[in-house]
Amino acid sequence: MQAPSLGGVQVPRGDGKTVVRLRHGASLNDFADKIDANPASLVTVLFHLGEMATATQSLDEDTFGTLATELGYIIEMVSAEEEDRELLGAFDIDLEAELADESDEQLTARPPVVTVMGHVDHGKTKLLDAIRSADVVAGEAGGITQHIGAYQIHTEHEGIERAVTFIDTPGHEAFTAMRARGAQVTDIAILVVAADDGVMPQTIEALNHAQAAGVPIVVAVNKVDKEGANPAKIRQQLTEYNLVAEEYGGDTMFVDISALKRMGIPDLIEAVLLTADAALDLRANADKDARGVAVEANLDKGRGSVATVLVQSGTLRVGDAIVAGTAYGRVRAMFDEHGGTVDEATPARPVQVLGLTSVPRAGDTFLVAPDDRTARQIAEKREAAERAALLAKRRKRISLEDFTSALQLGKVETLNLVLKGDVSGAVEALEDALLKIDVGEEVALRVIHRGVGAITQNDVNLATVDNAIILGFNVKYAERVEDLADREGVDVRFYSVIYQAIDDVEAALKGMLKPEYEEVQLGTAEVREIFRSSKFGNIAGCLVRSGTIRRNTKARVLRGGTVVGDNLAIESLKRFKDDATEVREGYECGIGLGSFNDLQVDDVVETFEMREKPRS
Ligand code: GDP
Repeated sequence: MQAPSLGGVQVPRGDGKTVVRLRHGASLNDFADKIDANPASLVTVLFHLGEMATATQSLDEDTFGTLATELGYIIEMVSAEEEDRELLGAFDIDLEAELADESDEQLTARPPVVTVMGHVDHGKTKLLDAIRSADVVAGEAGGITQHIGAYQIHTEHEGIERAVTFIDTPGHEAFTAMRARGAQVTDIAILVVAADDGVMPQTIEALNHAQAAGVPIVVAVNKVDKEGANPAKIRQQLTEYNLVAEEYGGDTMFVDISALKRMGIPDLIEAVLLTADAALDLRANADKDARGVAVEANLDKGRGSVATVLVQSGTLRVGDAIVAGTAYGRVRAMFDEHGGTVDEATPARPVQVLGLTSVPRAGDTFLVAPDDRTARQIAEKREAAERAALLAKRRKRISLEDFTSALQLGKVETLNLVLKGDVSGAVEALEDALLKIDVGEEVALRVIHRGVGAITQNDVNLATVDNAIILGFNVKYAERVEDLADREGVDVRFYSVIYQAIDDVEAALKGMLKPEYEEVQLGTAEVREIFRSSKFGNIAGCLVRSGTIRRNTKARVLRGGTVVGDNLAIESLKRFKDDATEVREGYECGIGLGSFNDLQVDDVVETFEMREKPRS
């Protein structure tokens, strides 16, 4: 169905229920494609809704929403996870189906992965240290010496040696950040509460986060060595939050410990294993390409990208082609928390991986790809998707190029500028010259800030708030400011010649000016005779004296040099009995001026049109 829309453009309209699915970072082109519309008409409609965008620019959900509502569609943005699933699907990788298809025989028990949480200063770090040194294997291997972001300890539990993996970053912030990125790493949370301090705000926050994630909690009542420690009170307090100790008839294990004195640590690990065995079915298929999560990563001067990954299923081997987020590469070497080399890593094993081309982020999922090429392609596709999503988040601001259209829509009247230069003399010269540009009445040029030196975060922030354009003369961005300007969509221009800056601004300002019109005379005709007609009004029999008389052009009547009739139009024009569109100089014609009947012989009919005046 076609119907006129804002701005008079034709856009196919939805019925208010039609759902249009768009990816993050989609542009008007993509939207137009889905509804079979002309992208240019969507640009116009959006314009009239008060948003400026080009057809290829990535837009955010809000902008699409506004446009869709106007046109009778419902927008559904495809989530980042969904998008990644589709992206992997294009490479025949379906992680969910893979997990669902695994048979009982393929699954073997894996160690639990534990995160330590709790209020600040309640002893999380001390506890992680204490557990590290409780490792029976580490004792022989010379202890856990490396902080790689996660470590695994071994303990004897009911006569069997069991492994437990600990995430070495205490606190729920990392836990939640990873969850926000779609990575569920933690199986069990140890909630540390200092017995001398009791339940505190972050204690509650941490337990809320764990409960929201459906992660079972083991409570470590710490600092029981301290005078005034009251472990019973902690148990009491936590019942309010649905953590009821076993001894009170609940199902949460509470263990009294002293992280400092390293007391109660084996009991705590025992409690973790008991809780895991009772509440969780921790099994994984080790016999496939590895899948997991990056828990920590950094760039090492000598070794390049160093990423600690936690294998969640499958087995990771040296030589595997892997992709972690947007980083990819081939596993060159792997190390464990003792600093020793590892050839393969099975589920729940954290390892440091060398060989990635860039640094993944904590919480990025990783997977082993069938070959190097696939790994690279997945990474590149992810990067493109991320870039598009980032662009969409960018706020739309004014640029010199936008000004013409912005002004025509009456959206701006002032061009705000921030000037930065290498020396104060240059800044002053630039400002002087800019303010001398003759822009007329309709637009104003305002220098909202000027200064010497690189373009700083402050400059960009100012430009963001005041919708300004930054001109840099012989200067660069200060560190990391380019990203900010990019994100905020601030137009920053660099010049090394002053007049080029002035030229650009002048051009933009001239573009900003509303067009000016001037009157151009088309022709004159002298009235020789008046024919009175009751049907058509008076008709003037004329001789064209100069130029051409055209039908429908604007006209006025002069008598002895003064205007006696204005705002008229040549409503009828005849050569003898026939209608004519134009009559040239030296010819006779009949002119009808509509309802204007006050014509006399010797009057002059003058015709003219309004033409846009070119700006000098
Ligand atoms: P975090 O902020 O939760 O990581 O807490 P820390 O592990 O840094 O510990 C905070 C402070 O409490 C440090 O001064 C520790 O020495 C002290 N501390 C930790 N555990 C114990 C404990 O079991 N007993 C005593 N007396 N002090 C402890």
